[in-house]
Amino acid sequence: MVVSDSKTRVTSVGVFGSTGSIGTQTLDVLTASSIEYSVDVLTAGSNSELLLEQVEVCKPKYVVLQKCSDPKGFSQSLSEGTELVTSENALSELSGIVDISVNGIVGFAGLDVTLGSLNAGKRLALANKESLIAAGPVVQKARKTEGAELIPVDSEHAAIHQCLRTDSVSANVSKGVSKILLTASGGPFRGRTNLENVTLEEALNHPTWSMGPKITVDSSTLMNKGLEVIEAFELYGLPSGSSLELEDIEVVVHPQSIVHSMVTYSDGSTIAHLSNPDMRLPIVYALEFPKRSIEGFGAIDWSVPQQLSFEPPDLDTFRCLGIAYEAAKVGKSAPAWVNAANEVAVDAFLNGQIDWIQIPSIIESTLLKFDGGNADVLGEVIEADSKARLVAKSLLDSFK
Ligand code: NAD
Ligand code: MG
Repeated sequence: MVVSDSKTRVTSVGVFGSTGSIGTQTLDVLTASSIEYSVDVLTAGSNSELLLEQVEVCKPKYVVLQKCSDPKGFSQSLSEGTELVTSENALSELSGIVDISVNGIVGFAGLDVTLGSLNAGKRLALANKESLIAAGPVVQKARKTEGAELIPVDSEHAAIHQCLRTDSVSANVSKGVSKILLTASGGPFRGRTNLENVTLEEALNHPTWSMGPKITVDSSTLMNKGLEVIEAFELYGLPSGSSLELEDIEVVVHPQSIVHSMVTYSDGSTIAHLSNPDMRLPIVYALEFPKRSIEGFGAIDWSVPQQLSFEPPDLDTFRCLGIAYEAAKVGKSAPAWVNAANEVAVDAFLNGQIDWIQIPSIIESTLLKFDGGNADVLGEVIEADSKARLVAKSLLDSFK
């Protein structure tokens, strides 16, 4: 970050979920950047200590601490010029006032930022895939707001963004694209079939990426890839106005996490995006698109020998991937139900309430109660999310 000169307007940024894995890496990128950014908003769930440290460095105008037992005390510990915002609509209001919102909140709780930013006609750098998956049709409407831009931060979707010709990305059409290939590391249990007794520690031991606990567990079940199939369909498939069907989005396991995704064109060409696994690269891409950042992240040293391998996913062992495809096929609020049931199941696993192997079963059992509801307006999405959570939570006891 550099102090502004009066000739150029400084780009204001809000980092939502600033204390998490995406949030802290975003602040790394912004701090290292030679471009003029002003970090005007920082928000966190509950980590007040780290948030205070970040406030000292970034001097934002506004902060939000979602779970705060003593707002008055916390407010007094903030530096002058920084205001604690406690209103119910804080996230959606603040995402509407900055030029770029980096949405690094985990789970459905990120929806306010996604909609707040797009509805205000601003740029959304989206890591929070859950909001797009649960509220696809509502987000698509918000994307049509004049000035609104959604640039994905999820590494696969940022890769696809780069593999598509610029005209295809901007027009949201897929001229000559025949397939999107999402790569998956396969997670810590790749190649295993007996997963009855896996531990939390094993599930959290991701082989190639260091991320927050929820997405790390999602990677171990392949639900992360399932959610990313829906995310890719929303961003680049039929819902975005292109002609790509759900079946045109395929998953290929690539354990090295060097190829971040690929696009195959009708003439037989496959274009891939490669880098070492480093989330700062998709973050800086989303901040600076269509420009390329001067600061580099994740560049590969091609003088070192290495091998890249590819294999199909094991859909029998990792049922969550198939569940997500099914939900995308059903449409309506089915993706919101899958997302909510998965959040409940993963939370229960992280808290030691259920075993890893029970995660897909809880999601499948929840979906048996799917009521066929729509997700065309915000109220329907919130209702679907609440209903699915209630069903999934009611199932937890019977699973232990
Ligand atoms: P994380 O758990 O490390 O951080 C989550 C952040 O959200 C924290 O700042 C936390 O305080 C905040 N938060 C949690 N609950 C909240 C609530 N109810 N309201 C407001 N804020 C809340 O998670 P992460 O790994 O940084 O992932 C964030 C999002 O980015 C997820 O949607 C994930 O799927 C996506 N993503 C992450 C990575 C990665 O490398 N970490 C990669 C791709 C996509
Ligand atoms: Mg990803």
